[in-house]
Amino acid sequence: MAQKIARLSEEVINQIAAGEVVENPASIVKELIENSLDAGATRIEVEIEGGGQHLIRVEDNGLGMSREDAILCLERHATSKIRKASDLFALATMGFRGEALAAIAAVSRFELKTSEGGEGTRVAPLEGIVEPCARNRGTSVFVRSLFHNVPARRKFQKSPSASAAQVVRAVETAALAHPEVSFSLISHREKLLSVEAGEKRERIETLLGPFREEVSSNQIWGLLAAPEEARGQRRGQYLFVNRRPVFSPLVARAVQTGYGTRLAEGLFPPFVLFLELAPEEVDVNVHPQKREVRFREEGKVFRRVEEAVAASFSSAPSPFVSPLSFEPPPFLSFSLREEETLASQEQEALPISFAEKPLFVFGHFLFVEKGGLWLIDLRRAEARILFEALRGRKGTAQALIWPLEIAADGEDLAEELQKMGIECRWIGKKTLAIDALPAPLEAADFPQFLTAWRENKKLEEAVCYRGKRRSYSLAEAISIWQQLMQCREKEGDPLGKPIWKEVEASDLERLF
Ligand code: ADP
Ligand code: MG
Repeated sequence: MAQKIARLSEEVINQIAAGEVVENPASIVKELIENSLDAGATRIEVEIEGGGQHLIRVEDNGLGMSREDAILCLERHATSKIRKASDLFALATMGFRGEALAAIAAVSRFELKTSEGGEGTRVAPLEGIVEPCARNRGTSVFVRSLFHNVPARRKFQKSPSASAAQVVRAVETAALAHPEVSFSLISHREKLLSVEAGEKRERIETLLGPFREEVSSNQIWGLLAAPEEARGQRRGQYLFVNRRPVFSPLVARAVQTGYGTRLAEGLFPPFVLFLELAPEEVDVNVHPQKREVRFREEGKVFRRVEEAVAASFSSAPSPFVSPLSFEPPPFLSFSLREEETLASQEQEALPISFAEKPLFVFGHFLFVEKGGLWLIDLRRAEARILFEALRGRKGTAQALIWPLEIAADGEDLAEELQKMGIECRWIGKKTLAIDALPAPLEAADFPQFLTAWRENKKLEEAVCYRGKRRSYSLAEAISIWQQLMQCREKEGDPLGKPIWKEVEASDLERLF
């Protein structure tokens, strides 16, 4: 039988690997700029033609390479940045896989000129040329006819202008993180971007426009847009970990939480944030494009970012109510009566007080941070609040705009409902008109509540099985939490099921 298995040639392997690193001109520009930064450049010049599809040129004044290194750097897994696997954990430089140049060279007409200060070297692998050349210290990389040998890739490239826009963003992102380096970008002899080395705030505002707030605590520095400038998309959000541009939903959410209720729901504030972490606290090796990071201690990072962001606002008055000074809505007055205040003094306090940090709501759970992570079941909390309001007739009855008409019968029904603070009257023999409800009970929930209650007249069950809501907003959740704090009993719902729980690391581990 004929042999079916063949070893792939080095060329094919490089082309396959290129698929991971080299997606489009912007990703090449990003890799080349990172190499220049790693080489200690203070001036980086980028030029493109045809959005980078015809030409990408990146030149720097960095350390340059020897003739030997200039040849070797085009081999896959050739890198000066790591020697053994354990180095991966303590990585301070940008690139480290030793893949980028080999991959780029595999899918383009590639040329390299480099010098350590003396005689330079020119390498043109396609023609098999390695020759001396004149060049000052530094490196120039030319990438021509991108994907000329990978038609499938070429077909999926964007239009030159869209592609150029991505390159602009790549250069801009690098420039944001490296104010000490001068950058320029030229397209068809037109200067698209040009910034001189300078100070970080000035660099950011030159590129992105003015920012109102400054975040500054140890290991975190950044600029934040005013809440009014928040937008419907995340585009203006830049995060750098150890000056590497990264993407982290965790940090984005921490920033969002730090803004608190200053932000309307669904809006994202533009920001530029820099985190400085010890290399072993970050794992950048999760994605070939190295865009996504993982943190060894996610909770700590989240808290630090959130606190730093919140602190930057503490001087400025908030246009909205901040969650930590949330005023209870007026209907809460039912439990603030004198007798109740006395009674609640005897109560054991909820282990999580309102001074803790509400993080976010997921479904019907409020996540709160206190040392560890706590979950509050909002449905059960609501049942408890409603139960105490109805049983104690403490709720301030709120008049309904339209009386609720309900088909019902039963001689004592109206009287029993009235005992719970529900104002109602018969209209005709079989129709009950509800005029006012104790505040925690909403008109929309009432029919289901009534059905549940009429089944066995057990208020405990009725409040627990009342209409189940699927999700809550953070503001609603905080309000429920506050009302719970005013309850006589805070531990469980009227049927004795726990309202809150601490989530321990072992609980999370069991999930995996
Ligand atoms: P990596 O950056 O992951 O090491 P690359 O393929 O991007 O892999 O680069 C391979 C090697 O070539 C680098 O480790 C570095 O030694 C050298 N190199 C690449 N670009 C430059 C540059 N602009 N200046 C100096 N050396 C460079
Ligand atoms: Mg590299």
